[in-house]
Amino acid sequence: MRKLIVGNWKMNGVLTQVDEIGNIVKGAQLYDNVDCGLCLPATLIYAATQRFPAFHFGGQDCHKDVKGAHTGCVSAAMLKDVGAGLVILGHSERRADQHEKNADVHAKAIAAGEAGLHIIICVGETEAQREAGQTEDVILAQLSDSVPDTLAGSKFSIAYEPVWAIGSGKVPLIEEIATVHGAIRAHLKQRFGDAGAVVPILYGGSMNGDNAAAILGVPNVDGGLIGGASLTAEKFLPVLKAASQL
Ligand code: PEP
Repeated sequence: MRKLIVGNWKMNGVLTQVDEIGNIVKGAQLYDNVDCGLCLPATLIYAATQRFPAFHFGGQDCHKDVKGAHTGCVSAAMLKDVGAGLVILGHSERRADQHEKNADVHAKAIAAGEAGLHIIICVGETEAQREAGQTEDVILAQLSDSVPDTLAGSKFSIAYEPVWAIGSGKVPLIEEIATVHGAIRAHLKQRFGDAGAVVPILYGGSMNGDNAAAILGVPNVDGGLIGGASLTAEKFLPVLKAASQL
C-alpha cells in the first residue's frame, strides 16, 4: 500500500502562510510514491485549493447536516465546495474540547461519506486508560461506535492517535504501535472483509522526521497524521522522505 501522510494544522495558519503551503506542495513533488495531504483551518482551504489545485487539502471537522441553523459550523458539503477532498473526524482535541462522542463522529462520518470526502477517523486512548490496561478495549469500542457500516463504499482511513502522545514528544514503543494497529486491522477485516485489508491505518502522535522511518516501518502502519511537524516544509518534508524510502 502507498503511504498516506496527512498534516493537521489545527488552529494554526493565516493567509500569509499560504506561501509555506506552497513550499510543502513543491517539496512533496519529490516524493511522488507517497500520498500527501494537509488538513487546514477552514479559513485557509479555499486559498490553498485555488493556488495548488493538484494537491490534496482537507478540513478538520464537519457538521452532520448539509446546512441549517448551526452557528459557527461547517458542513461536509461546504468543505467539498471549496475544493477539500479530506476531512479529519473525531480528533481527540475535539472529543475533549467540544465533548464529541462516538455517536457524533458516526453521524459526521455518514455526512462526509455522502459528500464524497476521504474521511480520517481518529481513535486513541488516554494516559489513564493506557495505564489501566484498557488500550485495546477503548480503541475497539471507538471503532465500533464511530465508524459507520455505510463507509464500506467510501474512502476512509483510521488514525490511531494515543491522546498522551499528541504534542507531547512521547511515542509508544514500536511493539505497542504494532499491537494496536494489528487489532485495528483485524477489526476492519472482520467488518469490511477484503476492503478492510486496504483501509489505510495512520499513526499520529509526535511523529517527526527523526522517528518517522521507524514508525512507518511497523506492519499495518500505512501512514501518519502529523500535527506540529506539518506546519513547515522544513519539518514536514523529512517525514515524506522517510515514507518514500519504505
Ligand atoms: C495530531 O494532533 O493529530 C497530532 C498527531 O499532533 P502532533 O503530531 O503534534 O503530536
